[in-house]
Amino acid sequence: MADGSSALARAMTTGEARLGWATAPRSSLWAQCACGREAAVDPRPWLGQGLSRQSLFELEDRLRCVCGARRARLEIRGLSPAPGQGAGGIHLFR
Ligand SMILES: [Zn+2]
Repeated sequence: MADGSSALARAMTTGEARLGWATAPRSSLWAQCACGREAAVDPRPWLGQGLSRQSLFELEDRLRCVCGARRARLEIRGLSPAPGQGAGGIHLFR
């Protein structure tokens, strides 16, 4: 059965998603670096710049990882438990 919710779920976990979607109830924004590090990211600085309609893909090069990478993959997830060990270390750069 084709249903729109699976299409939406797919869009929300790819670069097609818009930053503003991260503010939906029970949603959170996460960054994943190629080094394997991942971190919850606070979208508010970007929202304050009026970027809520930007796609996540367009924002990925605004992230910096402690490994030196200048981009990280962004995705919106449902509300997650507190990050486990090894999380963190990815920050908004601008
Ligand atoms: Zn990294």
